[in-house]
Amino acid sequence: MGKTKKMLKDYSPGEIIALFKDLNEPSYRADQITNWIYKKKTLNIDEMTNLPVYLREKLKKEVNINMLTIKKKLVSPKDGTVKYLFETLDGELLECVVMKQYYGNTVCISSQIGCGLGCLFCASTKGGLVRNLTPGEMLDQVILAEKYLGEEEKINNIVVMGMGEPLYNLNNLIRFLQTANDAKGLGISLRNITVSTAGIASKITEFAEEKMPVTLAVSLHAPDDQTRSEIMPINKKYPLKKVLDSCETYIDRVGRQITFEYILLAGINDSNEKAYKLAHLIQGRLCHVNLIPANQVDHVGMEGVRRPDKKRINDFFEILRKNNISVSIRKEQGEDIEGACGQLRRRHL
Ligand code: SAH
Repeated sequence: MGKTKKMLKDYSPGEIIALFKDLNEPSYRADQITNWIYKKKTLNIDEMTNLPVYLREKLKKEVNINMLTIKKKLVSPKDGTVKYLFETLDGELLECVVMKQYYGNTVCISSQIGCGLGCLFCASTKGGLVRNLTPGEMLDQVILAEKYLGEEEKINNIVVMGMGEPLYNLNNLIRFLQTANDAKGLGISLRNITVSTAGIASKITEFAEEKMPVTLAVSLHAPDDQTRSEIMPINKKYPLKKVLDSCETYIDRVGRQITFEYILLAGINDSNEKAYKLAHLIQGRLCHVNLIPANQVDHVGMEGVRRPDKKRINDFFEILRKNNISVSIRKEQGEDIEGACGQLRRRHL
């Protein structure tokens, strides 16, 4: 057994310089490899032709630059949405989706394998939480998604809305965001990154102190504690008042509007009464509401998860709009390849 290799993408560009110092290599060599892995998205040390052969050989023994490998790529004939299946070094599978929009390409990445939250309507949680993803595994989703997208294609936006609860993996999330944003890393503006949380109030407050200008999306999904607890067990620990208070702290510290996500579930949270309650609850806050018509997931125990009809969705939307709430309805992409929200938990084994 050789000694374990260092996972290079778990290190920040600054830490790679320190690592190279330990290997008695100057900092410009560190910057060269950083450039290969993050800018050129190279997956093979032998392709790093401006590094001397002795150094490439040394690096192959000391470090690993590939956190994920691609197993499958599916392209939606309907809207061009791309779905990838990636495998981690320990054999876990994860899916990643790229949506094509007029303002660029957006990749939806996961922050954990599985999820421990148990939301009623979500397939990602059905097998429970397996483990957190490392910063390098989050970066590699973006890197591989761009690499295999096509010639000249770039990833412009990132949404952390795949499997898992990102704020329950806060340290790794912050390290991921730093390297994603770093000029020597992926160089993506934090304003082009959205982090979606089920509303872990204590972690929202903690994250606010980082003052990172990402868009925070909070999965609200119900305007009262009773309904919310029925569909999101985490509400018992962090009820609505705590969640909304932490959102105020976030707005205050970071100076950014919050997005409230609201899944529309037929017969559960989609009545006119719920719409009025929601409008009342968030009236006057610096926020935008994104309505997500539920995706039906083919899974035992999820037969009750149904999308309301068009009229119901529209009536709900209109009540919010007429009450001066900034609101939109999420456009569905990639349903034909099972790439839509809440579906990212398929067994491919
Ligand atoms: N744990 C985080 C991020 C992952 S889920 C969170 O809860 O926000 C990303 C979004 O997809 C959340 O708003 C979640 O509620 C939503 N979602 C989950 N299952 C869904 C489904 N079946 N249909 C529509 N949206 C779903």
